[in-house]
Amino acid sequence: MHFYCICGKRITDQTDFLSYKAHVLPDQDYEDFWNGIDQLVDDETMNHREKENIRFSCSSMGRYMYQCPECGRVILEDIEDNSKLHFFKPESAVVSKKLLVSEKGKQWKGLLHAEWNDEKPDWREHKGYIMPGCNLEYDNTEFDDKESFMERYYEIFEDMVSKGIIRSAMMRVNNERIHIWRSDEN
Ligand SMILES: [Zn+2]
Repeated sequence: MHFYCICGKRITDQTDFLSYKAHVLPDQDYEDFWNGIDQLVDDETMNHREKENIRFSCSSMGRYMYQCPECGRVILEDIEDNSKLHFFKPESAVVSKKLLVSEKGKQWKGLLHAEWNDEKPDWREHKGYIMPGCNLEYDNTEFDDKESFMERYYEIFEDMVSKGIIRSAMMRVNNERIHIWRSDEN
């Protein structure tokens, strides 16, 4: 799904691991949530269906919060109607726009995706894009030269591996998977 912030920024929620999204758990549900988790861990007699029911009831206790990366507004889902969003504008212009990133900060293990198309789609500006999904900033990620694109991909990949901030990576060239990597730790 996607929506527009009041500032005009398009906010998308189509993948996992979003740096501008959080799951908010009401304090009134906090204890029940942990009771559910404990039950999942401790009760080995539970069947698959019972486990699924507990997982569902735990996950539905939370609601989503977003922060607009452009203007810093905090956006909270309505408790009764989750299609309704409430927008809160920061009091200060210097508020951090990364309030919802992982508590691991720059050490958070992210993802690296890259995509090259010989035939550039109309809606894209370049043939190749490298998308490092982590809390470090990488520049030089848009390409029209395939060799430079692939070289830069492996450069960023090696850098993320050496810093221990990557859980999986994938490069696609003309829809074909050229490089796939997944950390052993997951
Ligand atoms: Zn905004």
